[in-house]
Amino acid sequence: MNWTLIKAVIKARRHGLLRLVPATEATRLDCLKEACGKCCMNLGSPVVTPAESEHIDEQFIDSKDGAMFIKSKNSVCCLLDEGLCTIYANRPRGCIEYPWYNIGGRLYYDSGCPGIKHDTDQRPNPKDIQPFENFFAGAPKPVVWLIKKICIRQL
Ligand code: SF4
Ligand code: SF4
Repeated sequence: MNWTLIKAVIKARRHGLLRLVPATEATRLDCLKEACGKCCMNLGSPVVTPAESEHIDEQFIDSKDGAMFIKSKNSVCCLLDEGLCTIYANRPRGCIEYPWYNIGGRLYYDSGCPGIKHDTDQRPNPKDIQPFENFFAGAPKPVVWLIKKICIRQL
């Protein structure tokens, strides 16, 4: 079991993130970048595909349960430096897609992201967003199911 990911979910929820709601109305992201950094400071263990790993120094990658993740400390991504991503051009897909999520083919967004706006419709197609399950590669299905249920509960 990848406890780093479980701890990241708990910390993110505690800090108001991973409050996933269906994107049923006009929504866009106006990222606050280094003035915020909330995602990288709380969800800091994005899953990395073998292709993505070729562009990331291996010292920053952890392998667990047959999957690869960026290392983090207390859920703060180790590649974050003074609010900026040090591998921005090669950041993993999950980082590029945040705060959008594809849950069961439906588009969700993280309402805890302070960059979310509802004045213009710039929602991506959920087909272009990787399935939510990808973030928990290697974790048992019941655990992923439970995490999903918790993240779409608006508490
Ligand atoms: S939490 Fe949202 S606004 Fe803040 S850095 Fe991440 S994507 Fe940008
Ligand atoms: S890889 Fe970059 S964008 Fe992704 S969590 Fe780490 S610092 Fe943030």
